[in-house]
Amino acid sequence: MNFSRQIVLLFLVSASDCLIADFAKGAGSFSTVVIDPGHGGFDRGGIPGQLVPEKMVALDTALRLQKILEAARVRTVMTRTTDVFVPLPTRTAIANAQRDAIFVSIHYNASPQSRAHGIETYCEDSAGAPLAARIQRDILTQVSAENRGVKRAEYYVLRNCRIPAVLVECGFLTNPSEATLALTTSYRLLGAKQIAVGVIEQRSHPLPAPSPPPPRKKIRPHRTMLHIP
Ligand SMILES: [Zn+2]
Repeated sequence: MNFSRQIVLLFLVSASDCLIADFAKGAGSFSTVVIDPGHGGFDRGGIPGQLVPEKMVALDTALRLQKILEAARVRTVMTRTTDVFVPLPTRTAIANAQRDAIFVSIHYNASPQSRAHGIETYCEDSAGAPLAARIQRDILTQVSAENRGVKRAEYYVLRNCRIPAVLVECGFLTNPSEATLALTTSYRLLGAKQIAVGVIEQRSHPLPAPSPPPPRKKIRPHRTMLHIP
């Protein structure tokens, strides 16, 4: 074997090692995405007096996300597909019944101050943090909005999911410009596409295992959730 042939063989071995490593990384990831459109039914979401109901735009964005992921051959499970109220424990039970899954909750934000604007993504522990960072970054590459960052919060669905979980706030419905945008199909489609980009990217990377729940603190429902049992 001459020297140049050795070099070629070495290169081939290294390339296949990389492929195996990449495959292994994918294998440590997830196969199912539980999509959770926030609120529904009597729970409009947002704050009292809000003109645009959060439950409708969240559902539309989530259904678009489902379509995009299914087209990319990613299995999805929806916590709701129509305008119905689904209790939070039911949502987390649906998530926790899935194997090799992640949980993506879709919401739109609200504030008594109409100036408040921008996009933020929540996670509760380190298991959801890489996915939250990808989704936040990928939305902001295409949507011109303030980056409010990745935040940690003790929301019920995040706290009680035993799979990596994130909650995306796709803009403020109490901000006149962001509400106008959220009412357009193109904005909701773009948001869904960019969330899908983050999810699909994450499939090539292992997710940290969910950490055991820390000592109980006050659990926050999401926004108006007066319906917590
Ligand atoms: Zn919400």
